Amino acid sequence: MQISITRTTTPKQKPDEAHLGFGKYFTDHMFVMDYTEGRGWHDPRVVPYAPFELDPATMCLHYAQETFEGMKAYRHEDGSLALFRPTENIKRLNNSDRRLCIPQLDEELVLEAIKTLVRVDADWVPHSYETSLYIRPFVFATDIGVGVHPSKTYKFVIILSPVGAYYPEGVNPVKIYVEDEYSRASVGGTGFTKAAANYAISLAAQEKAMKLGYTQVLWLDSAEKKYVEEVGTMNVAFKLDGKVVTPALGGSILPGITRKSVIELLRYWGVTVEERKLGIAELMEAAENGKLEEAFGTGTAAVISPIGELYYEGKTVTISDFKTGPLTQKIYDELTAIQWGRAKDPFGWVVKI
Ligand SMILES: *Cc1c(COP(=O)(O)O)cnc(C)c1O
Repeated sequence: MQISITRTTTPKQKPDEAHLGFGKYFTDHMFVMDYTEGRGWHDPRVVPYAPFELDPATMCLHYAQETFEGMKAYRHEDGSLALFRPTENIKRLNNSDRRLCIPQLDEELVLEAIKTLVRVDADWVPHSYETSLYIRPFVFATDIGVGVHPSKTYKFVIILSPVGAYYPEGVNPVKIYVEDEYSRASVGGTGFTKAAANYAISLAAQEKAMKLGYTQVLWLDSAEKKYVEEVGTMNVAFKLDGKVVTPALGGSILPGITRKSVIELLRYWGVTVEERKLGIAELMEAAENGKLEEAFGTGTAAVISPIGELYYEGKTVTISDFKTGPLTQKIYDELTAIQWGRAKDPFGWVVKI
């Protein structure tokens, strides 16, 4: 399928690179493709960024049949543009879509769509240190009518947002609230997908944690509230007595690409990584015995987010003296160096645009 390109005649003024923040500005173009039952996906096109007109009975507005992805384009020092493990995101989008009864996308076409759109808006990829162009592909149900059933029509859209360095003053630890009341996801549900509905569900706990002075929540399993799952919209890992332990994926945890990359990088360095069930009791006990050496979240937006404090049922523990641990810093430095092309990529993760 040929991707058609219609360029804007009214380009926007680009924002000041020093104050990009995250997800506040959008580029001049977007990618759109439609699905109609019987015809499949059709009309892939890059068009000027513009609002959609939606009938009030559009299905995604009522039943949340919608999935998304999050990835970045990086500007390397030689001016070239690159993606990080994009096929992982595209496969995950199809996995999310399968769970939500959304038709599968052609993975090669999606990669071509991402590259084509980024090339058209290449001037929007910022130049400053550790800034990037955030890429947001998403799919939503467009049938009109109320009544719960899979839609017969969809839109697949990609939008782009120039984003600032996540840590303009260097990597900094955050305080985390261990959530023992609300759940994010359960086994058999949609925790392993980037379904829009998962994020609506997480807001109340996030608000509660913020009011108490915490940045994010650490989710426990929904059945027993005993096992650690993930932190906010990041996966989580702990350095426990010399080894790195991260919760095993069991259907309720989002399989992060940063998580996977960190595991592969650590094993390449010869560090032992355990993917297993990790009890919150085990974690708090390790912290009290001085065996919880480091803790960090992993995700595309922040890459690595060190955890300096955990609050659980009335108890607070401090990790690494509320400083970024040496292994955490090393992972951050290496992963970001690969992404921004400052270090060799022995894994074949970087894909040039
Ligand atoms: C996106 C996301 C992550 C991180 O995934 P990456 O592929 O590393 O960006 C982790 N947890 C949740 C709930 C997420 O939505």
